Amino acid sequence: MLNSLRSIVQEVNSARDLPSVLKIIVARVKNAMNTQVCSIYLRDPQGYYTLMATDGLNEQAIGQVRLAFNEGLVGMVAAREEPINLDQADSHPKFQYFPETGEERYSAFLGVPIIHHRNVLGVLVVQQMERRKFDEGEEAFLVTMSAQLAGVIAHAEATGALNVIGGTNTQRREAKFVGVPGAPGVAIGRAVVISPLADLTAVPYQTCENVEEELAFFQSCLAAVREDVKRLGEELKLRLNKEEQVLFDAYLGMLDDASLGGEVTERILEGFSAQYAWSDVILEHVKNFSSMNDPYLRERASDVQDLGSRVLAYLQESAQKERIYPENTILIGEELTASVLGEIPHGKLAGLVSVRGSSNSHVAILARSMGIPTVMGAVDLPFTKLDGREIIVDGYHGSVYSDPSPGLKSHYQDIVEEDLQLVAGLEQLKELPCETLDKHRVALWVNTGLMADAMLSLERGAEGVGLYRTEVPFMLRDRFPSEEEQRIVYREQLQAFAPHPVTMRTLDIGGDKSLPYFPITEDNPFLGWRGIRITLDHPEIFLAQVRAMLKASEDLNNLRILLPMISSIPELEVAQMLIYRAFDELLDEGYNIQMPPIGVMVEVPSAVYQARELAARADFLSVGSNDLTQYLLAVDRNNARVADLYHSLHPAVLRALHTVVKESHSQGVPVGICGELAGDPAASMLLVAMGFDVLSMSATNLLKVKSVIRSITLERAEKLLAEVMTLPDTESVNRCIESTFEESGLTRLLKPKLPT
Ligand code: PEP
Ligand code: MG
Repeated sequence: MLNSLRSIVQEVNSARDLPSVLKIIVARVKNAMNTQVCSIYLRDPQGYYTLMATDGLNEQAIGQVRLAFNEGLVGMVAAREEPINLDQADSHPKFQYFPETGEERYSAFLGVPIIHHRNVLGVLVVQQMERRKFDEGEEAFLVTMSAQLAGVIAHAEATGALNVIGGTNTQRREAKFVGVPGAPGVAIGRAVVISPLADLTAVPYQTCENVEEELAFFQSCLAAVREDVKRLGEELKLRLNKEEQVLFDAYLGMLDDASLGGEVTERILEGFSAQYAWSDVILEHVKNFSSMNDPYLRERASDVQDLGSRVLAYLQESAQKERIYPENTILIGEELTASVLGEIPHGKLAGLVSVRGSSNSHVAILARSMGIPTVMGAVDLPFTKLDGREIIVDGYHGSVYSDPSPGLKSHYQDIVEEDLQLVAGLEQLKELPCETLDKHRVALWVNTGLMADAMLSLERGAEGVGLYRTEVPFMLRDRFPSEEEQRIVYREQLQAFAPHPVTMRTLDIGGDKSLPYFPITEDNPFLGWRGIRITLDHPEIFLAQVRAMLKASEDLNNLRILLPMISSIPELEVAQMLIYRAFDELLDEGYNIQMPPIGVMVEVPSAVYQARELAARADFLSVGSNDLTQYLLAVDRNNARVADLYHSLHPAVLRALHTVVKESHSQGVPVGICGELAGDPAASMLLVAMGFDVLSMSATNLLKVKSVIRSITLERAEKLLAEVMTLPDTESVNRCIESTFEESGLTRLLKPKLPT
């Protein structure tokens, strides 16, 4: 059973569109279960369950038979969200007869719901003539099958919505894809799809503008690969046996016009881009070889795949150099990384969409700091098909639209316009203090990582840096930066903000932040070797960094050092000891420096419960609400599948934040918050009421938060906090905040309404 399950899922995964997905499922499930009928009903936009594929019933009935929710046996499976297994279906009161199916001959009926993310997408049914009940094993098999296929069907449905089959001249329709809000704002532009290099399955669907040029480009890449293979063959000649040498000749043969080369040329002549034509032809051959019975021939699939990837790498590298980015580039990729953002020419990047990741992935944080509307975790987005399409990114709600209708476009153009006005209206707040109506002052600082966001922060009137993520300059290199290289980068930050304080966090890698030159592979990276754990294990890295920070602060004296991921007192003490050591060394070396304040990030639950002890030993605390939320709620901040459980306004998180403030203040130690929550206008009243001394956020949110704080009294905020702290769940917290915003005329600072 497990084998047939695996092979069905594999085959379905490689199908190109929804009709082929459904066709494969019904044929293969019928076969595996040895039944006479297998059919799939899918829910249409009107809520009806329509027969979409069948093997066994009359095919003329496809698209004709429709059942409402709870109508007939199929509707009943959908309504009950559980399997129905009957030995004599036609005597069941819910049974409905559709003459066009020829169904009356079948007695036994087993229907299971197809459920994706709690939504019933459809019903999978098997039937048999004999009057018999499908046994427990068969029922379990069908349930397993359906659970595995639900995601594939959802994805294929989403892809189908694009209506791309048939090439460039098809009538395109608007399609909506759902993800997770990554960075607020709306962007309207053209998709540029970034595919991982040499991944044959991720090549975007692309046509070419000039067939002659594309052919010449393809031939030049083939010639380069031929040289490559020849050279490799020569180099390895002495080490290979005869059989292995033959393989190199076979590779060269495959590239000939009479073989793969010729097939690809034909596809390019049909108007496809070389990359797409190549990957399409190769995947077809890989599929054919893989399904052969002869083990020798089956093995050849990996040779074709290997050669395919090699040529693709050439095609992609050569194309990348010539890539032209449109004015309003919407960058789309399976897993966008922070470094990719740097590749787009300045001013051309309008929006981002990542298939993987979630709102607190680091690329999303970077996007927020750059003010680029972003959607993360759009898992069903058929991203390879979107290159060059018109796209709307709704970073407020996490929606992506392709080929928007004029009505939708104008709805979003209005929001873009309103946003511009809102930002312009907030400009006047730049020079004004951040205080409540009853004069309670709160420090508004910024989070930085790049020099670009430092500049933006200064423009927005930031009063200091609450979190400088030092890993960003580490990520942009191909080795650890030297002490002197670090000193120069840090000096730039300190100088830009002086005399305002700059809080530099020591290297916080691990989790989802990896350095290409220091790979860490772990099953559970967020609970593994992260942040301070790594740097304490590598004092040479830690000391070089701290020395660079201290040297950079010479004569400026605006440095603060922040330690990430502290989960116990000894970690803090060892880190402090190393910092003192570096400080003493530098004094001995003649530097004119002062000992900076040392702070602790409170971002794991143990630090919440030991906030008092940590505060007693540190100069300040700073809450990292991104990780704290992840660890308190046991929800991976990067996983789109659980993104709707990641709530920084969860009552448990709010209680933890309040505790940290009280404990820190009990020791007379100031406390800030530098996670994304600090920049959420909706949360700002609560954070002020809790007593946070510093809110540190992306520069783009600074004026919105200031505007909220300047519109209320501390008393009103405290009343809201008291009310919120009695609520049982995030939903009610959000509602309570919304009504306070409404009452204070601040609604527009929250996200705009969804299009109807
Ligand atoms: C946090 O965890 O809230 C934080 C500020 O650190 P980072 O997002 O870089 O992990
Ligand atoms: Mg963190």
